[in-house]
Amino acid sequence: MQLIDIGANLGHESFQHDLDAVLQRAQAHGVERMIVTGASSDGSKRALALAHAHPGRLFATAGVHPHHAIDYDDATDARLRELARDPAVRAIGETGLDYNRNYSPRDVQLQVFERQLQMAVDLQKPLFLHQRDAHQDFIALLRRYRDQLPGAVVHCFTDTGEALRDYLALDCHIGITGWICDERRGTHLRQLVREIPAHRLMIETDAPYLLPRTVRPQPPHRRNEPMYLKHICEEIARDRGESTEAAAANSTATAEAFFGLADLS
Ligand SMILES: [Zn+2]
Repeated sequence: MQLIDIGANLGHESFQHDLDAVLQRAQAHGVERMIVTGASSDGSKRALALAHAHPGRLFATAGVHPHHAIDYDDATDARLRELARDPAVRAIGETGLDYNRNYSPRDVQLQVFERQLQMAVDLQKPLFLHQRDAHQDFIALLRRYRDQLPGAVVHCFTDTGEALRDYLALDCHIGITGWICDERRGTHLRQLVREIPAHRLMIETDAPYLLPRTVRPQPPHRRNEPMYLKHICEEIARDRGESTEAAAANSTATAEAFFGLADLS
């Protein structure tokens, strides 16, 4: 079984001391390739450096998370565009809107999201998107740009059926994390995941966050790693009534097509 983790924050400080071991464990658990999320200007630079250090195995996104929108200026925009021109950068993002935490003011988030939408249009790269408690504003802006974009994945989807149908109507891809393995808050996803066509469904750990609750025993440090991706694949397969092998093969083929990896392996 070969899996692709489409969202791993491997530039996070918690991976600094043992990244090689993390990558080895991932490989041993069938996770051959990973897309390293860039969520800030510096983070995107780190993600690209990791992709360069592990060609063909690690790829990167370049973008600024809505939490950090307040730090985004013209220099940031120029730096991101430069990074994003590198062939190892397979998507623009993580970008979007987060009204749950509002670490950056909403009007700033909207502006900065729109600048990155325009960047994806200009560079013709797909988008890696984050949305929390902001669906109406998010979908309105995305809808305006969708026709000019080569693709868009709404990562870590945890929202309602209505939101899901809006995304699928815009021909977006959907990223599912270990949220679906959480019997306290992820049960609605177990129904909704059946509505996602196989060629629009991808899986991600969002490591080091969102350790799947189905990992037994839970590691004492609570850090999530790409090696646990299979737990998400297994839960999705159970919910969709298909074999884990089929769910794995579908999500891998979908990720290869979305990020343009098929011709690289
Ligand atoms: Zn996110």
